[in-house]
Amino acid sequence: YDDRDGKIWMDGTLVEWRDAKVHILSHALHYASSVFEGERAYGGKIFLSEKHSQRLLKSAELIDMEIPWTVEQIEAAKYEVVKANGLSDAYVRAVAFRGAGPDMGVSSARNPVRLAIAAWEWGSYYGDAKFKGAKLDISKWKRPSPETIPTAAKAAGLYMICTMSKHAAEAKGCSDALFFDYRGYVAEATGANVFFVKDGEVHTPLPDAILNGLTRQTVIGMLKERDITVHERHIMPEEMAGFEQCWLTGSAAEVTPVGQIGDYTFEVGALTREISEAYEALVRS
Ligand code: PMP
Repeated sequence: YDDRDGKIWMDGTLVEWRDAKVHILSHALHYASSVFEGERAYGGKIFLSEKHSQRLLKSAELIDMEIPWTVEQIEAAKYEVVKANGLSDAYVRAVAFRGAGPDMGVSSARNPVRLAIAAWEWGSYYGDAKFKGAKLDISKWKRPSPETIPTAAKAAGLYMICTMSKHAAEAKGCSDALFFDYRGYVAEATGANVFFVKDGEVHTPLPDAILNGLTRQTVIGMLKERDITVHERHIMPEEMAGFEQCWLTGSAAEVTPVGQIGDYTFEVGALTREISEAYEALVRS
């Protein structure tokens, strides 16, 4: 995966894929001083590209890190990478992190903040679950309080328990894991937001301890355009017994139907299909 042809943008220049390396004493590797974005290009156009670049800068600010690039420069860099790799439909990954420098302790104010952008082809995030409905485990870990960690940042530190939860889920034959939050409310999956349908209305967790995903916001807009009532609220896990449909949203996950979460089952219903298809049309429009 690292030893292949291709180009990666690093700190202002395109480098060969196999040469896109960092030093082992990079601060980020030791202390999770890293923020990132996951975006998709459709037909060469990155969906909500500027919003992703803005969120990258915001995430960095939230972890007390200043990225030495503007939104405009990040936009140009992302398109340069997509083009240099001859990609049309692609996943774009920007990552900003504290590099190696004079400080190798927790404090790293003098270390450079670096930015890299890679892009590659990445098909359906949940494989055929996209059609059948994904099966989700329930994580034993809880999304932390915003007083514990800046939960609005797309920051590496928040993903440690995501990887652990996803590994545990995969070991049980599930595609992903759903988290509850520190209060016990339904929160999000390891890389996606969650929606439920009951009696023609939609329920989704309030984004007060989760990532308020760009896809989540897009889908809420699509539902409102269709005059479908959306309840953004605290959801108790037991309520899942009464929900009829469920789907996940994310830039990588797009709109993926969910068939099962733990022992709760859902049908891949008409609204799920409609929103999933409408999202596919929107990203290419
Ligand atoms: N929650 C988490 C934890 C995520 O990693 C993601 C993916 N970025 C999302 C939600 C969905 O966010 P978005 O729709 O902006 O990709």
